[in-house]
Amino acid sequence: MAHSLRYPYKLASREAHKENTVVNIRDNIKIGGEEIQIMAGPCTVENYEFVSKTAKVCKKSGAKILRGGAFKPRTSPYSFQGLGKEGLEILKQVGKEEKMAIITEILDLRDINLVAKYADILQVGTRNMQNFKLLEELGKIDKPILLKRGMSARIEEWLLAADYIMSNGNPNVILCERGIRTFEREIKNTLALTSVPIIKELSHLPIIVDPSHSVGKPSLIPPMVKAAIACGADGILVEVHPEPEKAFCDGEQALLPKNFSKMMGEVKTIAKAIGRKL
Ligand code: PEP
Ligand code: MN
Repeated sequence: MAHSLRYPYKLASREAHKENTVVNIRDNIKIGGEEIQIMAGPCTVENYEFVSKTAKVCKKSGAKILRGGAFKPRTSPYSFQGLGKEGLEILKQVGKEEKMAIITEILDLRDINLVAKYADILQVGTRNMQNFKLLEELGKIDKPILLKRGMSARIEEWLLAADYIMSNGNPNVILCERGIRTFEREIKNTLALTSVPIIKELSHLPIIVDPSHSVGKPSLIPPMVKAAIACGADGILVEVHPEPEKAFCDGEQALLPKNFSKMMGEVKTIAKAIGRKL
């Protein structure tokens, strides 16, 4: 019974559910099973050409899920805010052409139906991890939710946020570590990779790692991705852009397609060494 559980998060805890949860995305893509899933694409959708170019290379190297923001949570109100519905349409079209599933961010309660029509996975960004009303509404839809860790959130708070979704009826939650704020200035955020094995102990939910927003710099992405896979992450969410200097958002941290492909070769070797598939 729920009240006898030791942990405050009653649904996300390993105590409540011993087996690993495997989240099914369409086309038999599974997150949290033997296979590691790679979600790759630009920070934001700028145009069809960039998304299509990126998707082709990523797919060829083994990514089955295409990422891209249509609604962007920008620090400055003067920065590009995303193409909105037009961005969703571009993602959907490229996803169809390349046979990739789509993940994109949901920012606002009012856009849930719209975004759910286009996306296979709805992403809750770091800034919305404790937007409880948004989480409750996402608990009422039947699409998987990727819940990023709040940049200042403790693991307990993160798992309680997952319970906001799950207790409203949606068990398909994927956690994503994306780095936390610390005193360190050499990197954008501190990638707290310890959360991967910690989550595996405390929870049955799948956990993936976003190296892009953690380190904020392309050269550090491959080593962190390799470490993430080695320590048990179920997948990776990474920003790739064919012409980073022309990106509207996060160009400074985008991996070039050729470097993404090289990294994927190395990741496959690690996956094999720990008995997982990619
Ligand atoms: C993103 O994935 O583009 C994003 C905005 O990430 P985060 O919420 O981790 O900053
Ligand atoms: Mn970004």
